[in-house]
Amino acid sequence: MLLPVVAHNIFIREPLPAVASLLLLGLLMVNILLLSLDRRAFLTPPVTLLMTLGLILVSLYLGQNYSLYLVFPLVVALPVLLHVRWAVYLGVLTGLLVAPVVFTGYDAATGVVIGVSLGLTWIVSAWLVFAVNEQSRRLRGMAITDPLTGVYNRRYLELQATRSLQYWQRYRRPSSLLLLDIDHFKRINDRFGHSKGDEALKGVVRVIEQRVRRSDLVCRFGGEEFVVLLSECTGENALAVAENLRRTIEETRILPEGGVTVSVGVCEALYAESTEHWFKLADAALYIAKGNGRNRVEAARVEIQPADAIPATVPHWR
Ligand code: GH3
Ligand code: MG
Ligand code: MG
Repeated sequence: MLLPVVAHNIFIREPLPAVASLLLLGLLMVNILLLSLDRRAFLTPPVTLLMTLGLILVSLYLGQNYSLYLVFPLVVALPVLLHVRWAVYLGVLTGLLVAPVVFTGYDAATGVVIGVSLGLTWIVSAWLVFAVNEQSRRLRGMAITDPLTGVYNRRYLELQATRSLQYWQRYRRPSSLLLLDIDHFKRINDRFGHSKGDEALKGVVRVIEQRVRRSDLVCRFGGEEFVVLLSECTGENALAVAENLRRTIEETRILPEGGVTVSVGVCEALYAESTEHWFKLADAALYIAKGNGRNRVEAARVEIQPADAIPATVPHWR
């Protein structure tokens, strides 16, 4: 966009705008180089846009009317590079600054056509950017949520659990995992049908979400298994939360046909060597809870469940 301004100003020997536009062009090139090297750019998008707009205006006010056409790509760039509010401010400011040049340089009808084209260019560009942002926001949401229950999926849980484990390893911030599995869930499906089973899954999620903090993460781990990642929570506190959840689920009439119960495995990050190991420990604790009669909570203990004694394959009860 700046090249024609530079070339024209050199050609007509306007030293000031020529030097200024060359300088800005140089700065932009350095900026692009820094970005391509994964470094921080020193010119922010608003500064870059303002400087470019300034130069275009100077050349417009010097009578170089061809610069008017450079305002169009600038207007298109506004919503792409700035937040909507700032794109509106800078768009209106651009219109106001360009208006005197348009109405003194052209007749009224041409002035109106240019003004309308500028406005439409801005609106179409802003709408396209909004649509693309909205689409990618929706896709991002879909990639990390479970469509049936609306809670996070396993992919997102793995990312967050890894982060929590790193926080424990680096800063000693405790966190714990609860792995909940609905007891005899197959019987619900067999007796009342798959859609009742789905309803039960949603009901259990509702109870869990009501009982945990907003800072905790509720995820669907698999078919009828859910994980709650409790931040800033020691194993002891996590056991209390798990027991509370277990009891509330037992006491709630999840389906009109009857209630359900859950077994829970609890494990604090402290015992885990890796995210996978953490899940495996919680799974082993859940396995014990199932073995001990279901509808109960068990904590993982590395002393009694050493890492290599935990089965690498999926336990037979799943
Ligand atoms: P246990 O107490 O040992 O956990 O027994 P269970 O019957 O709950 O365990 P099992 O793992 O054998 O059965 C889980 C069932 O969950 C099997 C599968 O058909 C059902 N299931 C998995 N995903 C869904 C789902 O999205 N909707 C419904 N309705 N059922 C599902
Ligand atoms: Mg089950
Ligand atoms: Mg299961």
